[in-house]
Amino acid sequence: MIKRFLKRVFRRSQKAKKVGNARIIPFASHGVSRDQISYGSLKVTDGLQAAGYQAFVVGGAVRDLLLSKTPKDFDVATNATPEEVRRVFRRARIIGRRFRLVHVMFGEEVVEVSTFRRMVDAEDVQADEHGRLLRDNEFGDQEQDAARRDFTANALYYDPTTQEIHDYHDGYSDTENQILRMIGQPAVRYREDPVRMLRAVRLSAKLGMKLEAKTAAPINEMKNLLDNVPQARLLDEVLKMLLSGNSVACIQQLRQMNLHHGLLPLLDVIWAQPTGEKFIMLALHNTDDRLRQDKPVSPAFLFAALLWHEVLAAWNLRVKRGERPVGAMHEAMDEVLAKQKQQLAIPHRHDAVMKEIWLLQQRFEQRAGQRPYRLLEQPRFRAGYDFLLLRCASGEVPDDLGLWWDEFQDATAERQKEMLQPEGAAEKKRRRKPRKKPAAVAATAE
Ligand code: ATP
Ligand code: MG
Repeated sequence: MIKRFLKRVFRRSQKAKKVGNARIIPFASHGVSRDQISYGSLKVTDGLQAAGYQAFVVGGAVRDLLLSKTPKDFDVATNATPEEVRRVFRRARIIGRRFRLVHVMFGEEVVEVSTFRRMVDAEDVQADEHGRLLRDNEFGDQEQDAARRDFTANALYYDPTTQEIHDYHDGYSDTENQILRMIGQPAVRYREDPVRMLRAVRLSAKLGMKLEAKTAAPINEMKNLLDNVPQARLLDEVLKMLLSGNSVACIQQLRQMNLHHGLLPLLDVIWAQPTGEKFIMLALHNTDDRLRQDKPVSPAFLFAALLWHEVLAAWNLRVKRGERPVGAMHEAMDEVLAKQKQQLAIPHRHDAVMKEIWLLQQRFEQRAGQRPYRLLEQPRFRAGYDFLLLRCASGEVPDDLGLWWDEFQDATAERQKEMLQPEGAAEKKRRRKPRKKPAAVAATAE
C-alpha cells in the first residue's frame, strides 16, 4: 500500500518528455521492465532495431503489464514492411492476403509482427473475406498506427531497449485510472467497425476497467450495426468472450448494456432457455474456473452445454411420442444441430465431440452389469462426467447420480461390484413402455 502510494508520488514528480505528439513515459514512472517481455518478442524488437528499424511491443501486452496481468501474447509493431521483416529473421512467414502480418517463430513462441498502418478515407473502405474492415490497410507511421487502434489503453508502444512507453492518446493515465476509452469519436469508430462494441464489453469485463461514459453512450443506439457483421467474425468475438476466463462477467456486462438480445443467435440461445439458464451459467462459471487454473477447455464442451437444453426438449418430445430413448436422442441431436447450423455458424468440426458428450449422458443412467465398466473406458468419459456434474448442480438430475459415478470411477474392484445395481431393474422399466405404446396406437387406429 505504502509502496504504491510512494510510487504514485514519485511518478507525479517525473516529467514525461515529448517526442513529436507522443508523450514518452520513462521506466521510472511505469515500472515495466525488459525482463517482463517474452523471449521471442525481445528477439524480434532487438533484431529489427539492429537492422535500423523502429520496433515496439504494442497493444494488449503493454496494457496487461501495466495492469499487473499476464499478457496472453506479445505483438510487435514496426516501420519495416513485411518483406523487410522476413529478411531479418530466419524463421518468419508472411500471413494474410490483404492485411499482411509476419509470424516470426522461436520454438513454441510465435510473435506477430505488424507494420505501422494508417486509416484511409471511408470511401476506400474494403472488407476482407472474413468481413474485417480494411480501412487501416495502408502503411503509415507510428502516430498514424496509434490513431487507428481502438482504445487508448491498446495504443501504447513499449520499447524494450530504452524501457520507455510512447503514448499518443493518454492511454497511460487511462490505464492507471482503469478507464477504457475509445480513441477519437466513439460513434464514428463503432460505425467503422461495430465489433468494437463487443470488444468494449469484453475488455472492460476482462480487465475490470470502467467503460468511459462517452465510449459507452452510443452503444445502445448503434447495436443494430452488429447485424451487418458476418457471423464468422461475430462467432470469433463471442468465443473470445466465452473463453476469456471472464465469461460470466462478460455476459453480465452485455445484459447491463442491453446488448444481449438480437446480438447474435449463439447468445440468444442462452436467454431463450429459462430452464437451461442455470445450467449454462454454471457451465460458464466452470469454464472460467478451469481457465484460471490453466486447465484446458474445449469449445465443443461449451457448445454442447449451450445447446443441451434444446437437445433435451427435442428428446423429451420424441420420447413422449413413444420413440425409443436412444434413437430419439440421435434424432434430437441431429435436429438441434441442423437448426443451429443455420443460425450459429458453429463449425462442423465440433459436431462429433458434442454428440459424444450428449450420448454419454444416457449411459450414465445405466449402472448394472458390464455397462458402467465399458463407460469408464470411453475416451470421452471425463468430458461426459464433467457434463453430468453440471447437470446435477443445476438440479436437472439427482445429485446421487453424480456421486455414484464419482465414487465408482476410483473405487476398488470389490467396491465397484457392490455398487452395481441389480441387472434388469432399469431395463425392464424402459422395455415395457414401447410395448404398451404400439398397442395403444393400434387401438386408436382401429
Ligand atoms: P486480448 O488480450 O484479448 O488479446 P488485445 O487488445 O490484445 O486483447 P487483439 O485482438 O489481440 O486484442 O488485438 C491487438 C491490438 O490490435 C489491440 O490491442 C488494438 O490495438 C488493435 N485492435 C484489435 N482489434 C481492433 C479493432 N477492431 N479496431 C481497432 N483496433 C483493433
Ligand atoms: Mg492480443
